[in-house]
Amino acid sequence: METILIKQVAKQITDASSVLICCHIAPDGDAIGSLLGLGLTLQQSGRQVTMACGDPVPLSCRHLPHWEGITASPGYDELDLVISLDCSDVERLGNVYEPSKLTHVPIVNIDHHATNTRFGHLNWIDTEAAATAQMLVRLIDTLGLPLTVEAATCLLNGLLTDTLGFRTSNTTVEVMETVAYLMRAGAPLAALTDINYNRRPISVVQMWAAALQELHLEGRIAWTQITRDIRQRVGYTENGSSGLVNFICSADEVDIAAVFEEAENGQVNVSIRAVPGFNVSQVAFALGGGGHPQAAGCSLSAPLEQVRERVVTLLKQAWQESQNLTPLSKSPTMAYE
Ligand code: AMP
Ligand code: MN
Ligand code: MN
Repeated sequence: METILIKQVAKQITDASSVLICCHIAPDGDAIGSLLGLGLTLQQSGRQVTMACGDPVPLSCRHLPHWEGITASPGYDELDLVISLDCSDVERLGNVYEPSKLTHVPIVNIDHHATNTRFGHLNWIDTEAAATAQMLVRLIDTLGLPLTVEAATCLLNGLLTDTLGFRTSNTTVEVMETVAYLMRAGAPLAALTDINYNRRPISVVQMWAAALQELHLEGRIAWTQITRDIRQRVGYTENGSSGLVNFICSADEVDIAAVFEEAENGQVNVSIRAVPGFNVSQVAFALGGGGHPQAAGCSLSAPLEQVRERVVTLLKQAWQESQNLTPLSKSPTMAYE
């Protein structure tokens, strides 16, 4: 079944000579890694390729080759195909995808989020895949295209970051085989691991320190917030809560963690994490966001306190429901996600 789907996706790409590839706004290492991994590969094959993201490439992805080639204002002339990567709903593509201007251009949706709304003309959604980048390795193989060192590097970056450095429970044998395949193609695992997990600006550490002083624990749910005031004090303007929410969720006493971040655009970005046995993707989805059972998020246009109250109430319900289904307590031998 899935093989048929990959072949259909491959055929759409083979038949296209001008392609727009997009990923989700507030992009992470898988979104940008996938965008570049597929984009560079298709460029190499002689196609006209535009790589687009509605938000700027974050500092945390600027070690990837050719990130400067990603645009926030793509042209739509003589386009044969749009490919959406790592994006669970069409609004999350942001301004780079304007459906009214692209009515005659098919969109192929390639993603691994369980909350994907299947907005494409063709939807290849593999919720078992640890990253969209992992799916793209199969796609590039099906296309019969060579994998350059640069594309392999970008794809490995996606796989590395979506598995939190190969620590999530979906880090399967297949994932590790894909890692070996990408390393054989020249992707530098040690360097990527170092950049993604061992280095960060001091302003991020200061921001976490400020946020951690206000850490709240309600039952086994922990939350904190990054206010605009904190961000201004430390001089950090990017989104930077993913590492923090992962860290909070690592506490033995915590099953679900959330970080509420006042974004520059006035919205509140909510990052949620859970240990195995709990599912937070439905809470995020119900609030217009999405994600995976153990890592999800949403963005809400309301005052910070209101957002906090609403989300924490729903998280308490989700915790209770999970508890009723599987009376699991966190065990140190379990994988994170
Ligand atoms: P984050 O907390 O930003 O690292 O995101 C965790 C997961 O939730 C990722 O898979 C994101 O793609 C997803 N996610 C975060 N925010 C949203 C949103 N506003 N809409 C849909 N999915 C989101
Ligand atoms: Mn992503
Ligand atoms: Mn992903």
